[in-house]
Amino acid sequence: MTDAFELVIAGGGPAGFSAAEAYREAGGAGPVAMVAAEGRVPYERPPLTKDLLRGEVGEDEIGLAPASWPADRDVELIAGLAVSLVPARRRLTLEDGRELTYDHCLLATGAEPTRLPVAGASDPAVHVVRSLAHVQGLLTALSADARVTVIGSGFIGCEIAASLRIRGHVVTLLTDEAAPQARRLGEEVGELLSAWLRDDGVRLLAGAGVDRIEPAAGGGVTIVAGPETVAADVVVMAAGIAPRLELAASAGIEMPDDAIPADASMRTPVEGVLAAGDACRAYNVTAGRALRVDHWGDALGQGEVAGQTAAGAEAEWDDVPGFWTTIGARTLKYAAWGDGHDAIELTEHGGGGFTARYRSDGALVGVLTHDADVDYDEGREQIAVEAPGR
Ligand SMILES: Cc1cc2nc3c(=O)[nH]c(=O)nc-3n(C[C@H](O)[C@H](O)[C@H](O)COP(=O)(O)OP(=O)(O)OC[C@H]3O[C@@H](n4cnc5c(N)ncnc54)[C@H](O)[C@@H]3O)c2cc1C
Repeated sequence: MTDAFELVIAGGGPAGFSAAEAYREAGGAGPVAMVAAEGRVPYERPPLTKDLLRGEVGEDEIGLAPASWPADRDVELIAGLAVSLVPARRRLTLEDGRELTYDHCLLATGAEPTRLPVAGASDPAVHVVRSLAHVQGLLTALSADARVTVIGSGFIGCEIAASLRIRGHVVTLLTDEAAPQARRLGEEVGELLSAWLRDDGVRLLAGAGVDRIEPAAGGGVTIVAGPETVAADVVVMAAGIAPRLELAASAGIEMPDDAIPADASMRTPVEGVLAAGDACRAYNVTAGRALRVDHWGDALGQGEVAGQTAAGAEAEWDDVPGFWTTIGARTLKYAAWGDGHDAIELTEHGGGGFTARYRSDGALVGVLTHDADVDYDEGREQIAVEAPGR
């Protein structure tokens, strides 16, 4: 077993996976190691709150590649945590003390779910969802008659609430927003999403910030949110994510924006160290500025650029970021720079479909659609055309 690698990837998510693939596709022939805390071939996270949680696909159906992938691609998959990086020695140290040296080290450490800074947020009844193990824990805790409360109305919270309703649970969605996603996507879109959730049978408590979570005398917990109190057996906290930066910090990388800085080729300011995915803020040549995004397709895209860079090819991140989300049976498609707008135009198409266009100083900076694929495709192209980097 060699401990000297041309490419060492810290992180076993889509960014790391796609980097290994792209490195080989671009002709990279050196030894490659992937250090993955989850210890398995990377799998898709989007189904965790959708098809998998609804029971429509099994755990063995969400792998990004077959179990033979490490052998097929000649990648040494190492289960465990990478704990420190010394760029001057091109050395990554693992939790068991093993040391790997590299020509290129990719930091693809992703993000982890955050908990609200309130009493009771770490009660055993309170779950978060980032990994397959989290979903397994949640499903184990869910008896058929469990009263479930989801805290947070980002897409992950909305998806979980709708999916658990489809499984037949009594579900409350508690949010401090006036309506789901109102802060990010505008109040009118928030109202449309509220209607979707209510149609699906989710009890929506909007404008209710959680003060504390207390153990309840008869079991479960009581969530206190201003004047509201909600009794729950199972709570899912979907309160956002934070990039995992410990490894980058150990390497002395400065992160004033709480993300690993990277150029359009995914190079960090530190020689030999690349970054991609949720953990990084990378320069997008079309946007003409650095962006931090946390979308599946962009983690794959940035990882691809990083793998090509490691193989010595010319590559830059230039895609308009975006994602699709499925809330119950309805799919939303979103493409946007994601760093602000000053105007929203909402067009309802009848039959429930709609298009929201987001502008900044008159330029199209985002498009969100439901059942309006032509608008989505055209909007995505137009965002790129109107971008300052073009
Ligand atoms: C439930 C859920 C649903 C989602 N749905 C969608 C969706 O519908 N559409 C969409 O666009 N996006 C979705 N996302 C977001 C998308 O999954 C993320 O943007 C994407 O996974 C980021 O990829 P990544 O490779 O940067 O990081 P991650 O997927 O977080 O992978 C990083 C991996 O690295 C490991 N790791 C971290 N630090 C270390 C270390 N020091 N040593 C070893 N291993 C380490 C972690 O354990 C993890 O396995 C969803 C996310 C979740 C959690």
